[in-house]
Amino acid sequence: MTNQQGVSLLRPAAQDQNWKTLIVESFRDLDSLLDYCEIDACHAEVESSRKFAFRVTRYFASLIEKGNPLDPLLLQVLPTANELQQVDGFHKDAVGDQLAMPVPGLIHKYHGRVLLTLTGACAIHCRYCFRRHFPYSEASVDYRPASPAMNYLAQNTDINEVILSGGDPLMMSDEKLADLVSSLNRIPHIRLLRVHSRLLSVLPERITPSFMAAVSSFKGQVVFVAHINHPNEISEHNRQAFQQLSRGGYRLFNQSVLLKGVNDSAQVLAELSYRLFDAHIQPYYLHRLDKVQGAAHFDLSMQECKTIYSELRNHLPGYLLPSLVEENAGQKSKTAIHCD
Ligand code: SF4
Repeated sequence: MTNQQGVSLLRPAAQDQNWKTLIVESFRDLDSLLDYCEIDACHAEVESSRKFAFRVTRYFASLIEKGNPLDPLLLQVLPTANELQQVDGFHKDAVGDQLAMPVPGLIHKYHGRVLLTLTGACAIHCRYCFRRHFPYSEASVDYRPASPAMNYLAQNTDINEVILSGGDPLMMSDEKLADLVSSLNRIPHIRLLRVHSRLLSVLPERITPSFMAAVSSFKGQVVFVAHINHPNEISEHNRQAFQQLSRGGYRLFNQSVLLKGVNDSAQVLAELSYRLFDAHIQPYYLHRLDKVQGAAHFDLSMQECKTIYSELRNHLPGYLLPSLVEENAGQKSKTAIHCD
């Protein structure tokens, strides 16, 4: 990992460290991160980090500008008193996940595809997360052969795609991922495996040869969807991991969330699209914030979203323009937001 001047930002010993060690070494308390970032503690709120745990990888933290309390990466992970406010229209289950779970940990909303919540663990905790109140202890999927989830997949022959999610599915060990893939391989009509992960960008050391072996054991196509909101989240360090996946023949897409104070400008989003493309990643979705309790301070009005997106459309060629969408509980697809 280097900064823009090409200077190494990683401690030499960290370069070969096991990804699990790097998870253990991540920032788990607010004061340590603020100290590292040289930021005054008054910008944060400890009580919020008790309600939704705090975690940031050292790599992500290294991309935060020192001494800048408004850094767009810091704002994504910084607990603030705003999270404690109850705001009308913001709910614990913002997108109706729990209403669409025929068996624990299997969410079936859209035709042809289901999503598995494999773990509640993540490498960083994003303060706007739409699953910040998700009951993971009751809704983690059992993926053993003949488990209720695998039986559901086997019986519903119109399902051809399985999305691995969480939490972050890459927090699972390679052994467990290989077991899951083995279970899915037994179901003939599952042709696509989609992996939604923030580790791809915030802990690129996760892309190991044994990880590649686990995913490549899937009989069909594997697609990766990264979650990157700001161009500063892409550096030479994670570009190498994306390149590795791309050279392995995998397609990479990105979804971002439109966040007040973080990426609410057409210029920032345009630069994000160019950097994603340069990193072999196709911009895919730009989500309007899901209205989850505790995240209202990241919200932008519909008109603000449309204004930003209209300007973005004027900046970018069509193939770099993500689709602006929102998710509404009970709908059969994401809802496209149309701008005049
Ligand atoms: S990585 Fe994803 S699931 Fe985890 S906290 Fe961030 S948005 Fe939520």
